[in-house]
Amino acid sequence: MPHALYIPFLFAFGACIGSFLNVVVWRLPRDESLVTPPSHCPKCNKLLKWYDNIPVLGWIKLGGRCRYCKESISARYPIIEAITGLLFVLFYVMYFMVHAGPCVGVRIDGLEAHAYGMPTSIAEDWPIYFLDMLLLSGLLASSLIDAELFIIPIEIPWLIAAIAIFVHTVLDQQMMPGNLIVGPRPAALAAGAGLGTLISFLLWVTGKLPMSFAEGGPMLEIERDELEQKRTTQEKTANGGGKKASKTKSAATEETEPEPREWTSREVRKEMRKEMLFLLPALGLGILWVMLVWKVPAIGRAWESAVRERWVGALLGSVLGGLVGGFTVWLTRILGTLVFGREAMGMGDVHLMVGVGAVIGGGGAVLAFFLAPFFGIALAIYMLLTGKKRELPYGPYLSLATAFVMLFYCPIAEQLAPGLSNAAWMLGRLLNGEGGA
Ligand SMILES: [Zn+2]
Repeated sequence: MPHALYIPFLFAFGACIGSFLNVVVWRLPRDESLVTPPSHCPKCNKLLKWYDNIPVLGWIKLGGRCRYCKESISARYPIIEAITGLLFVLFYVMYFMVHAGPCVGVRIDGLEAHAYGMPTSIAEDWPIYFLDMLLLSGLLASSLIDAELFIIPIEIPWLIAAIAIFVHTVLDQQMMPGNLIVGPRPAALAAGAGLGTLISFLLWVTGKLPMSFAEGGPMLEIERDELEQKRTTQEKTANGGGKKASKTKSAATEETEPEPREWTSREVRKEMRKEMLFLLPALGLGILWVMLVWKVPAIGRAWESAVRERWVGALLGSVLGGLVGGFTVWLTRILGTLVFGREAMGMGDVHLMVGVGAVIGGGGAVLAFFLAPFFGIALAIYMLLTGKKRELPYGPYLSLATAFVMLFYCPIAEQLAPGLSNAAWMLGRLLNGEGGA
């Protein structure tokens, strides 16, 4: 089938997904159901006709106004639909016409590295295309929610991670672009660290591991601003009765609305111990299992034959990607908080990169994480110049960097591979005791 047939279809399909994302972005952070009630006008509550719901076109035909009460409907809805449709088309063009995007791997010949096995056609490589589009849609929804409310609902990245692990396990093939099939040692790291994370999680759920910031974390700057604004307006309204009256008034409001707790740098740093404790079993079991597979021949042989099963290598490769993505952000959060004495990076970003890693693998997730600040600079300057928001949500930058990495991971890996393989070779020599003079 020619590209000219796929492109309009994928635009329409993407626009429909975008229409669903609009629902997700509004309802998920407000704890409303995603299926009921069906689309309705927020002003007059009348249900929309099915043809008013057609992405982009429905809005244009209505002239941006409700059919019944003529209240204007935000242009944001058709814009999100159009952007999602265009993203589906852009990635189709890049993957199957330009043949960029995910590859099978990077081969090193001497000093040069070559990426090989790029996507060929959608008929052949549809699994990775649709999995990547799922990730992209989830990132778009997360970014929109994060930019508005400074939260990332963890349902989005964890749903993506679950689907990614399932798809990679069932469909990954050795010669498929973007497959995450790994060898025995990375698989051992995934199995050990995955088991450790599961143990920590179960201990945490049952209350045997402490939760950091259990009574709510430190306030964000924007929350502080909002609170101050509310206070000053309250004081202004109470000012009629003189100074004494305004004081008793604010004392009364404080009783109904408890004062958020203030955190000192020392207290914030101390909370990080709880998070380090959570990560300890994962690190310990991960390293232990790798060493056992590596150093004990009987275990090594048994493990190798287990991982040789295609689906086991793919399953553990996807799990490893999620773990590497999440741990990179989490360790940065812990280190940053210890250094600066204030909460660095939210847990939402940790969860987001679990989803990213499970889809595109650990290497891509780490690369996206380190590229994210570069995508932040332009947006950060814009926001600092225009808005009052002093904190910047990190989710949109992580998402932009991830989209970039989905398209250009392989050429970047070509550049990085020789250096990384030398470093790995030297590390191997040191660990095997063959290093030194
Ligand atoms: Zn209406």
